[in-house]
Amino acid sequence: MAEKILMKTPLVEMDGDEMTRILWKMIKDILILPYVDLKTEYYDLGMKHRDDTDDQVTVDSALATKKYGVAVKCATITANAARVKEYELKKMWASPNGTIRAILDGTVFRKPIMVKGIRPLIPTWEKPITIARHAYGDIYKNSEIRVEGPAKAELVVTGADGKEIRRTIMDFQDAGIVQGIYNTDKSIRNFARSCFNYALEQKEDLWFATKDTVSKIYDHRFKDIFQEIYDTAYKEKFEAAGIEYFYTLIDDVVARVVRSQGGMIWACKNYDGDVMSDMMATAFGSLAMMTSVLVSPDGCYEYEAAHGTVQRHYYRYLKGEKTSTNPVATLFAWTGALRKRGQLDGLKDLVDFADRLEKATLQTLEEGIMTGDLMAVSTLPSKKKVNSEEFLEAIRERLEER
Ligand code: NAP
Ligand code: MG
Repeated sequence: MAEKILMKTPLVEMDGDEMTRILWKMIKDILILPYVDLKTEYYDLGMKHRDDTDDQVTVDSALATKKYGVAVKCATITANAARVKEYELKKMWASPNGTIRAILDGTVFRKPIMVKGIRPLIPTWEKPITIARHAYGDIYKNSEIRVEGPAKAELVVTGADGKEIRRTIMDFQDAGIVQGIYNTDKSIRNFARSCFNYALEQKEDLWFATKDTVSKIYDHRFKDIFQEIYDTAYKEKFEAAGIEYFYTLIDDVVARVVRSQGGMIWACKNYDGDVMSDMMATAFGSLAMMTSVLVSPDGCYEYEAAHGTVQRHYYRYLKGEKTSTNPVATLFAWTGALRKRGQLDGLKDLVDFADRLEKATLQTLEEGIMTGDLMAVSTLPSKKKVNSEEFLEAIRERLEER
């Protein structure tokens, strides 16, 4: 047996819930621990432990990510009424992803894993399209009022000095609805920096679009901030890297994306990103093949799968069934984190290992060995359905050959 690959700085390891927690352990046992002298700082974000610690563990894991710079996260339950009952929770805890994102102030980049046999629904897409969603403000932090009858709706901003700015939104003659939304320059700036940094790192063009022709102050502010930061801090770096920053209208960008070959990062305002990331996941074939990384403006990275805890499979697992749950996105969260750690610490062996493990995974899929979800979408002429553990063992065989 060859020597294990050494690490310098620990990864922040955020364990999670249900079926993905089972996959988490399998991935480590079968594909990582035999090869890497794994150093992690472990945080158990499982529902029970979040409840036991009054969710302090989530905050601590985010602070550790700030300290070390790289984290890998398992999918976690977002508590709702049913979960409060199921786990006898003290309260309906906030979404861990929301808590972590608020502390790191980052942007989430979602990128599909492309593999032979799983064709995107858009035939021209040859390369993955990454969606960067600004996950702050806009309609997600709105104030809404139902107007019951004739009324005057106004927008009022009162300065710290008491000075008022007032605009009439609508003189309602009858019933209707009204909504107020906001964003902050600081958050938009951080969003822009995260996008420019990520584009440079991936060496991919960055596209950004809003509806600035209609929203001449609100959306226009997004456009201006991106342009200003690009011109002052990134233009030269982009030119040196041979990549492009491109702004256009949201309508135009949708049409261009559909006609494109892919291979770019598409930065979206909050709502656009919410909607478009679901469309992308479907169009690229599978939510189980979508990776996600949170990048903070000061360069911290948290890798995870885009899907949830796969609850339905977990209940079958609890009954003793060996489920065929797809571990690829969770595995790629690990390889993403290990590679980044290796790059930051100058550990070529670790970077190479992450590359090899990803290649072995794609090779396994391309040889027709896959989990049930992919059987339904794969166009390979001969394919075989295996359970999660058999799939990971098949990857291991191919990894050993490399
Ligand atoms: P989900 O876990 O993504 O699963 C929805 C369905 O998609 C599954 O039932 C399964 O379909 C299919 N699927 C998703 N991932 C798969 C995989 N890796 N392999 C095979 N099939 C896969 O979404 P959910 O059931 O709506 O949510 C479950 C829990 O996850 C919730 O408590 C939610 O709060 C949480 N969640 C967490 C995150 C996160 O931590 N980032 C994100 C989303 C949701 P079939 O049953 O038809 O096979
Ligand atoms: Mg959505």
